Amino acid sequence: MSDRVALVTGSTRGIGRLTAAVLGRAGFHVLVNGRDRDGCDATVDELRHETSTDSFSALSFDVTDEQQVVDAFRSIHGEHSGLDVLVNNAGILGDGRIGMISRNMMEQVVQVNLIGASSCLQQASRLMRRRGGGAIVNVSSIIGLEGDVGQAIYAASKAGVVGLTLAAAKELASSNIRVNAVAPGYIETEMIKDVPAELHQERLEAIPLGRTGSAEEVAEAIAFLCSDKASYITGAVLRIDGGWVL
Ligand code: NDP
Repeated sequence: MSDRVALVTGSTRGIGRLTAAVLGRAGFHVLVNGRDRDGCDATVDELRHETSTDSFSALSFDVTDEQQVVDAFRSIHGEHSGLDVLVNNAGILGDGRIGMISRNMMEQVVQVNLIGASSCLQQASRLMRRRGGGAIVNVSSIIGLEGDVGQAIYAASKAGVVGLTLAAAKELASSNIRVNAVAPGYIETEMIKDVPAELHQERLEAIPLGRTGSAEEVAEAIAFLCSDKASYITGAVLRIDGGWVL
């Protein structure tokens, strides 16, 4: 088992799953996360098969559940004696016009996208300090930088992730912990499968590269920010959006 350990939250599918694969190939032991224990186990089996390595194990927990988060990081400390990389990727959409979005949906979106990420960052930074440093990548969104109609709460949560990144980068630099964010644009995953055809076409026309991005393209950028090749980069917010201007 590699002695460099990475946790990717929300890695049972989409961007997180590809990030886990890229990090596993790069030599990390990757902890695969999602709320569904069976889903994590199945993803671990698939990733081991796809990469012909043993570099993955399951760590199922809900990022919104404080006790589960504490227990998960305790188990990382117990089993791996530390953590080198955290990718705060778990996220949900909560689309709706401002007048229509329910209070419950507001709370859910902020709980997963912002509080969940903050809580994992807090726990991870404690383990990384003991290890002498580490790298954290938070997955924001171009919507958090630019806003969009029908996405006010999602945008607010993802803008919060940018603030978290900037503040944590400053605070944790003296502990040799780098904190960066990526802001993906329109990426082909389950998250965008329900976008109506007309809006889909409109978005493609607004993207200079004229296509959606792939989860792999985002994963490669995240893996770069996690790697020693990015050793002088902290507090950066990297757009991965094909030039999309909203
Ligand atoms: P998916 O919906 O495909 O995957 C989301 C992942 O998050 C799943 O593994 C899901 O697993 C996990 N997850 C959701 N809620 C929780 C939770 N409470 N605790 C732990 N895990 C959770 O999303 P994408 O891959 O498309 O998106 C990944 C990230 O990228 C998100 O933060 C998203 O906001 C962001 N993003 C995506 C864009 C896109 O166009 N796709 C664009 C910009 C940003 P499970 O359900 O089993 O818990």
